[in-house]
Amino acid sequence: MSPLFKTVAVLGASYGGSSAARVLAQGLPKGWRVVLIDRNTHMNHLYAFPRYSVLPGHEHKAFIPYSGFFSSETQEPSPHAILHAHVTSISPHALTLSRAFPEHGIKEPGRTLDFQYLVYALGSHLPAPIDLWNPANTPAGTKAEGIQWFKRCQTRFAHANSILVVGGGALGIQYASDIAEAYPGKRVTLLHSRTKLLPRFDDAMHTEIVSGLTALNVDVILGDRLDLSSVSAGKTVRIGAGGEERVVRTESGREIHAELVLLCTGQKPNTELLTTLSPDVIVPEGPPREWLG
Ligand SMILES: Cc1cc2nc3c(=O)[nH]c(=O)nc-3n(C[C@H](O)[C@H](O)[C@H](O)COP(=O)(O)OP(=O)(O)OC[C@H]3O[C@@H](n4cnc5c(N)ncnc54)[C@H](O)[C@@H]3O)c2cc1C
Repeated sequence: MSPLFKTVAVLGASYGGSSAARVLAQGLPKGWRVVLIDRNTHMNHLYAFPRYSVLPGHEHKAFIPYSGFFSSETQEPSPHAILHAHVTSISPHALTLSRAFPEHGIKEPGRTLDFQYLVYALGSHLPAPIDLWNPANTPAGTKAEGIQWFKRCQTRFAHANSILVVGGGALGIQYASDIAEAYPGKRVTLLHSRTKLLPRFDDAMHTEIVSGLTALNVDVILGDRLDLSSVSAGKTVRIGAGGEERVVRTESGREIHAELVLLCTGQKPNTELLTTLSPDVIVPEGPPREWLG
């Protein structure tokens, strides 16, 4: 099929890539096809990852099948395709994949897809507590692997009596409140480097969140930053019944003991594949602060 078609390759079939692919598939002229590529077999609804990693019984809902994604209303077969593979490299008019798809003209040994246009929608690397897309956690990117990973997270939360959540952004606040609500007996601490939670929002938001967390018995520590060297140092203390707590330190010297430490300190753009294609488009220090409002 492929030599007969011109190709728009869309990398990443999450919120951004899947929307772009749908719009393109509806608007491209005859003779063009969209090839949408993702490491995952299902669209992952990542907004719900933190909650599903704490609360058992809902994890299957995080995985939305791509079946019928390009279904055509006409009798003709759709020229578009969605491929389950890792993109491993990109050059100006070709990319390579982790698997071959001979039926779409992507053959061994090169596993190369030629394209006329490319949409780069590979998003961000996920923060450690919800890092489902790390090949070590879900090497094949399947729903079954994802469900097992969520269940392992749920077991860890069920067994830990003390949890330190580092970072008072949306992810950290959600983790602290969900864990405290699901497990009222656990000691939950939220550590945030600034004096205000969600600093880009109104003061009233901060006040409301602190009052909600306090009602859930979450210990909120503001204006103190985790000393990351104390995390890598790996110090632990023994607690009853053969258990063990990690000992970490803040920059002000405060020691915090917790069986689990969740680093909710932000996401990094997934731009590695662009660095070889077009290094000039990467801004290593991120966007200027004034763009962020
Ligand atoms: C916990 C949490 C809650 C959130 N809640 C909200 C919310 O309520 N409302 C809101 O508007 N936003 C929310 N966000 C932000 C939102 O999730 C992001 O803005 C959104 O995910 C960005 O979508 P994207 O398509 O650009 O990239 P991503 O969602 O990051 O998707 C990237 C895709 O690329 C794929 N991929 C990556 N590398 C490769 C590769 N080499 N080969 C093949 N495939 C690859 C991944 O599998 C993934 O499907 C939340 C984020 C988090 C972490």
